[in-house]
Amino acid sequence: MSFRFVVLLLVIHLFAAHILVMVVYNIVINPYDASIFTKIFPYQFLHNLYRRKPESALKSYFSFRLDIDTSEENVKKNDAGVQKLIRIADDHGVPITFSIATEYLPFFSEKTKEMIKNGEHAVITHGHSHEGYITEKEQEEELRRSKRILESEFQTEVKGLIAPKAKHDFETLKAAKKNSIEYISAGSLSYIRYWSFPYPFKKKDVWLLGGCVPSDYHLYERKRKSPEEALSLWKEAVEHRVRNQWFIQLEYHNFSTSEEKLKVLEELLRYVKEDTEAVPITLDEIVERSHT
Ligand SMILES: [Zn+2]
Repeated sequence: MSFRFVVLLLVIHLFAAHILVMVVYNIVINPYDASIFTKIFPYQFLHNLYRRKPESALKSYFSFRLDIDTSEENVKKNDAGVQKLIRIADDHGVPITFSIATEYLPFFSEKTKEMIKNGEHAVITHGHSHEGYITEKEQEEELRRSKRILESEFQTEVKGLIAPKAKHDFETLKAAKKNSIEYISAGSLSYIRYWSFPYPFKKKDVWLLGGCVPSDYHLYERKRKSPEEALSLWKEAVEHRVRNQWFIQLEYHNFSTSEEKLKVLEELLRYVKEDTEAVPITLDEIVERSHT
């Protein structure tokens, strides 16, 4: 047997094993994963096998994230809807993690900003311009600018980043670290406070099992689901996560605030809070709790 043949065999076996892991993960273990990255490379969870998870990571946390990131027109048009949404979340005791592309902050009404400040919510950065990033320098500048704007407007420390268009790479991590951003949350939630190469396999990183369930954008815009269909899918996904004591993140946008969609959202938040064991919490709080 020649050396090249052995290598070829090895590669074929590795590839087959990868396909098997992918299939088992996506069908049996986590059928509600909304992140393409973890769907294709579900290995981040191996990380949790060799280290004890913090006690706090064994709960099923539910994070409701509201992204405001599209256009001036969208922000203005949906301002009243966002206020209704905040009222619903407040009524049900569900804190919101606002992920804001700061270019659009000037188009928020004063009242909306007041409501964000007065609730038990968290504000994190979604970049300044919501553009997919290019160089480390540009990303660093975008993050610095966005963080400064948010911190002065909301009088809070900005600890988290949702990378615009879910585009984050090594440059993003470096830029985030330079701006004292503690975590990046996309499909799953991962800490970057201690990151170093080879990311993410560094001892002090914590990857929580679970992550995003399908977003409003995914269900309403791409899959053309009705609000009722979306509700039953979300309930199913939440139920699955709670059963497994996994982390849940619902990514939602200001453009899904029609009367009909808000009704469904209200029912979902009521369900999470009253009919499940899930703990509604902001992303900032999850990071904090998982450190202690
Ligand atoms: Zn976005």
